[in-house]
Amino acid sequence: MSQSAAASPSSVFDQVRFVLNETSHPGNVGSAARAIKTMGFGRLVLAAPRAGAEVLRDPEAVALASGADDVLANALVVPDLAAALQGVSWAVALSARSREYGPPNAEPRESAAIAVQHAGQGDAVAFVFGSERTGLSNADVERCNALVHIPANPVYSSLNLSQAVQLIAWEMRMACLALERGDVASVAEAATPSPSAATTEALATRDDVEGMLTHLERALVDLDFLDPDNPKKLMTRLRRLFAKSHLEREEVNILRGIAKHILERKVRR
Ligand code: SAH
Repeated sequence: MSQSAAASPSSVFDQVRFVLNETSHPGNVGSAARAIKTMGFGRLVLAAPRAGAEVLRDPEAVALASGADDVLANALVVPDLAAALQGVSWAVALSARSREYGPPNAEPRESAAIAVQHAGQGDAVAFVFGSERTGLSNADVERCNALVHIPANPVYSSLNLSQAVQLIAWEMRMACLALERGDVASVAEAATPSPSAATTEALATRDDVEGMLTHLERALVDLDFLDPDNPKKLMTRLRRLFAKSHLEREEVNILRGIAKHILERKVRR
């Protein structure tokens, strides 16, 4: 469909995207459409679904979407996670597994409260879910600002994909309704300890941050600080640092300016 991933929305519910990355079961896509519609959301984004764009018309997906066939039909199909996060300022990765690296962890309720604060400031936010078989890769998780694990039964904590979507959509609904009621205090309380939304400046989008990281990486290689043949965990650690610092657009521009200056210094000499 023609809708842009960065289309400007009208209510806080419209600022929220549910992104399914590399989903393999059409039934889960239909169930996820139903899960988000029951909670008042409508933006479903499918990054590289295994069945391709045809998944939107798959009989199993249509059957399980039930009355949410409009959400299914309007779902945006994009080639990869980067495209799904275009224009998004705050992205939350959902993982059944804990990770050694990656962005800071948050509880589901806390992550919803933080996300709704950003959405309330007019920023697009996204919840990113992994594939049924392998979940999200570390690289996918590192594209996000926060990592959420639903604290389920520790000996069997991997939920069905659409059921994980349902739980997060419920938490987001509670947070959005609190914000709409003007219950800012309860949202802020649920968002602690993260001070993430304290800024009134425009947050950088995920694509701004990715562009800056690519630029910075080139500069660090140029400085001989980063060995491309043996990069170790430097970029992963820098991603985590930037994920924790909730970069504003202006700050990303400063970092790009530094990278540009480094890359141009040989020419100046
Ligand atoms: N086998 C996969 C799990 C796939 S479940 C793995 O080992 O990672 C499909 C998706 O549902 C996950 O990628 C995640 O986005 C979500 N999910 C399932 N259980 C979850 C949990 N307990 N906490 C957070 N997300 C979960």
